[in-house]
Amino acid sequence: MHNEGLGSWPARRARKTPDTAALVHEERSLSYRDLLDRVSRLARALRGLGIRPGDRVAYLGPNHPSFLETLFATGMLGGVFVPLNTRLTAPEIAYQLDDSGAAVLVHGAAHTALADEVGAPVRVGPDAYEDLLAGADPDPLDVPVALDDPCMIMYTSGTTGRPKGATLTHGNITWNAVNVLIDHDLAADEVALVSAPLFHTAGLNMLTLPVLLKGGTCVLVAAFDPAATLGLIERHRVTFMFGVPTMFQRVAREPGWDAADLSSLRILTCGGAPVPTSLIEVYQRRGLTFLQGYGMTEAAPGTLFLDAAHAVSKAGSAGVPHFFTDVRVVDAAMADVAPGETGEVVVRGPHVMRGYWGRPEETAAAFTDGWFRTGDAARVDADGYAYIVDRIKDVIITGGENVYPAEVEDAILADPDVLECAVIGVPDDAWGEVGRAVVVARPGSGLAPERVLAGLSGRLARYKIPKSAVLAPAIPRNAAGKILKARLRDDYGKP
Ligand code: ATP
Ligand code: MG
Repeated sequence: MHNEGLGSWPARRARKTPDTAALVHEERSLSYRDLLDRVSRLARALRGLGIRPGDRVAYLGPNHPSFLETLFATGMLGGVFVPLNTRLTAPEIAYQLDDSGAAVLVHGAAHTALADEVGAPVRVGPDAYEDLLAGADPDPLDVPVALDDPCMIMYTSGTTGRPKGATLTHGNITWNAVNVLIDHDLAADEVALVSAPLFHTAGLNMLTLPVLLKGGTCVLVAAFDPAATLGLIERHRVTFMFGVPTMFQRVAREPGWDAADLSSLRILTCGGAPVPTSLIEVYQRRGLTFLQGYGMTEAAPGTLFLDAAHAVSKAGSAGVPHFFTDVRVVDAAMADVAPGETGEVVVRGPHVMRGYWGRPEETAAAFTDGWFRTGDAARVDADGYAYIVDRIKDVIITGGENVYPAEVEDAILADPDVLECAVIGVPDDAWGEVGRAVVVARPGSGLAPERVLAGLSGRLARYKIPKSAVLAPAIPRNAAGKILKARLRDDYGKP
């Protein structure tokens, strides 16, 4: 095989485990042999549509086998896959199609109107897709693809600005998957429940692709539903799940939780935010412990990882670097900060992107001496465990003191009458900047802004307590659910 990349995985697996179920979706199951057949047909069909090595193929839709078939088929012919977030608006999708220069857009059934609106050059909906497969030759293509060739352009969430297309090579994805295999100790008979979206780096790269590399089974779910989750765990004897903390919280609040048979579960990974201790305890009562992770699109994404043995003793920590990952916490001069001091997280490893698609200046600005600057602040304890503090861009400098909004937001959210909150800095003549809490109150609670602030005294140092609070109808979030601080600063940041 000339293909070292992801496009060769279906053939390599079909050689070893042809009859194992690779993908399960609703009532349908595809073995690795079936997957190779469909991927090979699609690769030839895409070539028939004019796709050549280096060309981009985009995908828009919820979790479905065709997402992974399109990814592997694009890799088989040496193209570059562009997954799109279904929660984006039409102009946002149009921007990513244009920025990546996608020649073909494959889309799901519910996204026909949106696909038409964004005007991709060639659109392939579900019916056309099956017709293309039926009409194509199932003989696998053998196109030379190296680990250093680009595999996908994955857009960042756009929390701090416009989403940037991280160019991830086949090697980046492979090394990240190897890190997961090592640190999660994946078995060949793993059954993953994939309800996190495949278009996000976590659902794709931390869960689905490592399991497919190892030869396990991925159960694809189009939309997360806590009640259905318990049924799927029992029915498929699920061993591996990945989610954000709120997903696991909602599952544990289901009426069927106590009676559900969870004996098959072995690996539960939580990412994107620290896991609350209360949630850890609820799962521990069922004999289950979380692995926790910190990462970013640019690192494909696994960077720090907290194993189950330290879930409680190092609660709040994002852990230690993955096996083939180097992480440092540094000051502005790139010198390591002392244990307990706050600095910027920088990362290096074979899974870190070479750069942003078509953006040499932004790429150059993102790296120093070969280290990727994450823009996240963290401190490291004496044992080498890292604690993510907040994004550096969001830090508030008031009277010379650094205030990390995440800590203040945690304290405010402890008030049961607060539904959502975000803390921003506003210009101030005396202090340079002062904090302001933007709060969404529980309907009918009659929460007054002054009460939010009064509740903080004695719990936070005086300089950390915001000088003002305002009530807001909602907190603006991006398609990944992350708070858009820049927009809040525009709307609520006047002195
Ligand atoms: P953009 O780069 O476009 O502004 P983004 O950084 O939100 O968007 P992603 O790559 O999806 O895009 O998210 C990575 C970021 O998410 C990290 O840099 C970090 O700020 C945050 N993050 C990820 N995991 C954790 C975690 N366990 N704890 C705290 N923050 C986390
Ligand atoms: Mg980012």
